[in-house]
Amino acid sequence: MITAFFVFIFGACIGSFCSALLYRTRHGVSVAKGRSRCTTCNKELGPLDLIPIVSYLIRRGRCRHCKAKFSWQYLALEVGMGALFLGAYWRYCGFGYACLLQPEGFLLPAKLAVFLVFLTLIFVYDARYSEIPDSFSITGAVAALAMNIALKPHDWFWYLLAAAVGAAFFGVQYALSRGEWVGDGDILVGAMIGAMVGWPLVLVSLFSAYVLGLALVIALMIVKKKKLTDTIPMGPLLALGAAAVLFIPLSFFPFFWYAW
Ligand SMILES: [Zn+2]
Repeated sequence: MITAFFVFIFGACIGSFCSALLYRTRHGVSVAKGRSRCTTCNKELGPLDLIPIVSYLIRRGRCRHCKAKFSWQYLALEVGMGALFLGAYWRYCGFGYACLLQPEGFLLPAKLAVFLVFLTLIFVYDARYSEIPDSFSITGAVAALAMNIALKPHDWFWYLLAAAVGAAFFGVQYALSRGEWVGDGDILVGAMIGAMVGWPLVLVSLFSAYVLGLALVIALMIVKKKKLTDTIPMGPLLALGAAAVLFIPLSFFPFFWYAW
């Protein structure tokens, strides 16, 4: 249980780092450059302000200097990332610690955690700014290929194939619609998701994203927030579809087995 606690805290720290990375990517500031600053008064945040979750709760989400309110999204990202890391740990180790001491037992949850970081970055960035930085998806795709092939060297072809299929799926739509249906960023995200989940799960992952999207559009139309012609960002849906496939064993996708 104590291990679970540390996994959660570690995830929350990564979530805090992701906040800084998302902000700095948007505003073109290097991640290596200096401490984070308050966006209102521009004062540097002290080490105590950077403790995830705790500092937010103690200061009630306000800057120590100017009392400007920080977005609830910082807290959400830290708690959410802690929970995702906990989920990755549970998925492969079931809250035990023995498996973490074996190389394979450690690598599987570590791999899932790395993938979840990239999927979360894309989820949040696309939801917030309606675009996806290529640096996220390219780094994610390379990391995913490297980790998957290191774990399963014999399956290298299937991971490359899945990445190519993921890219082609959006590449063809992009070419046919001249960029109307999907953005060019989606092509790289498709490649990244393929590299993460492999073949044939890339198909399940994309299918799940579209089912989720359809459900979301119908729900939004019922509450009359959207019209059928409105667009919704694809990135968050793709990230959710991929995360679902990474977490849920394939036997839970019976529709896929019937089709296969
Ligand atoms: Zn301030």
